[in-house]
Amino acid sequence: MQKPISLGRRILRKSRLAGTVAAFLASTSYLALADQGTTRITVLATGGTIAGAQAEEGGYGYKSGSFDIKDLISAVPNLDKLAVITGEQVVNIGSQDMNNEVWLTLARRLAEVVASPDTDAVLITHGTDTMEETSYFLSLVTKTDKPIIMVGSMRPATAISADGPSNLFNGVSAAINPGAVGRGVLVVLNDQIHYARNVSKLNTTDVQTFQSGNRGPAGLTNTGAITWFAMPERKQGMSSEFSIDGLTELPRVDIIYGHAGMNADLIEAAIKLGAKGLVIAGVGDGNMTTPALDALSAAAKAGIVVVRSTRLPSGIVYRNNEVDDDALGFVASGELNPAKSRVLLMLALTKTSDPATIQTMFTEY
Ligand code: GLU
Repeated sequence: MQKPISLGRRILRKSRLAGTVAAFLASTSYLALADQGTTRITVLATGGTIAGAQAEEGGYGYKSGSFDIKDLISAVPNLDKLAVITGEQVVNIGSQDMNNEVWLTLARRLAEVVASPDTDAVLITHGTDTMEETSYFLSLVTKTDKPIIMVGSMRPATAISADGPSNLFNGVSAAINPGAVGRGVLVVLNDQIHYARNVSKLNTTDVQTFQSGNRGPAGLTNTGAITWFAMPERKQGMSSEFSIDGLTELPRVDIIYGHAGMNADLIEAAIKLGAKGLVIAGVGDGNMTTPALDALSAAAKAGIVVVRSTRLPSGIVYRNNEVDDDALGFVASGELNPAKSRVLLMLALTKTSDPATIQTMFTEY
C-alpha cells in the first residue's frame, strides 16, 4: 500500500515550499478572522477517491476508500495549525455505493456531532460521484447553524498532483471561518465553495468538476483565504421542516431518464416495484414523449407523485410551460436536477403525497 501524497510531501520537502507556506500563513491576516488553532472540527469520513490508492504510486486506476481518515489528515501540511481536528470513519466506500441507509446513518451521527458542545464545525469527506445528493440530503435534515463542509477529490491520495490535500486544507479553512455559519452544508473542491442545493458534478475526471449552474458558487478559497458571496435564500438547516427523527427508511423514488423514443415500460416497471414517487430526467424543459406522458398521467391519478426535472445541467423546469402540470397533477422541479429532486421528493413524501403541497416545497427548498 502506498502512502497518501508521499510524492507530494517529498516534493514539498525538497523545494522548501512547506516553510514558505508556513511563513505565508503566519503573515496573512485572514486567519485572524477565525479562531485559528482552537476551533474544534470533527471529521466524519465516508471514503471516496480522496481516500483512494493506486496499485502503484502515480499509476492508472485506483480503489476508492483505501486510506483511513487519520492518514489523510496527518498528510496535509499545517492542517494541525488551523484547528483541533478529530476524525472518525462512518463508512469507507466509493460514493457510487451511497444509499438511503447510509444517508440515515450519516445524518444521525452528524446530528449527534453538531449537538455536542465539543464540536464547533464538521468536515465530511466523501466521494464526488454522489456528493451533490448527500450534501443536499444532509442540508435538509440537519438542524444547526454550525459549519458543515464536505470535501472530496478527483484524484486519489497517491496520485501525482493529488487534489485531496489542498481540498482538505481549504475545507478546514472554510470550516473555521465565521462566514460559514448559517450557510448550511457546503461543498469545497478546487478552490470553490458551493451550496449543497446548487452544486452538480459536471465532468467525469476534471478537478474543476463541481459547478453551481444557475447561480454560481457560494464563495472562493485560495490557500485558506476565503471570499464569501451571497447567503443562501432557500430553506435548509434550521428553517427546514424535514427531519429523520423516527425514520427507519425513506419512501422509494425512482428516476427515469427521458430520451427520443421513450416508451412507458420503465415507468410501469417502477410503479409495479412500489415506487411512491417518480422523477423524470426529461428532455429540455422537463419534457417527454406522449406515451411517457400518458403513463405518468395515469400514475399521478393513482396517487404516485410525479416530478418533472431535466437531463440538462442548468436552467429551470417551469410549471405549465409545454406540459400542463395543473391538468396532469405533476410537480415541476424548478432548479433541482433529477438527483436532488429525488432527495427532496423522498423527504416530502415523509410528510404528504399531495402534489400541490409538494410543488410548494419545490419552490421553497
Ligand atoms: N467513485 C468515486 C466516488 O465517488 C469517484 C469520485 C471521487 O471520489 O472523486 O467515491
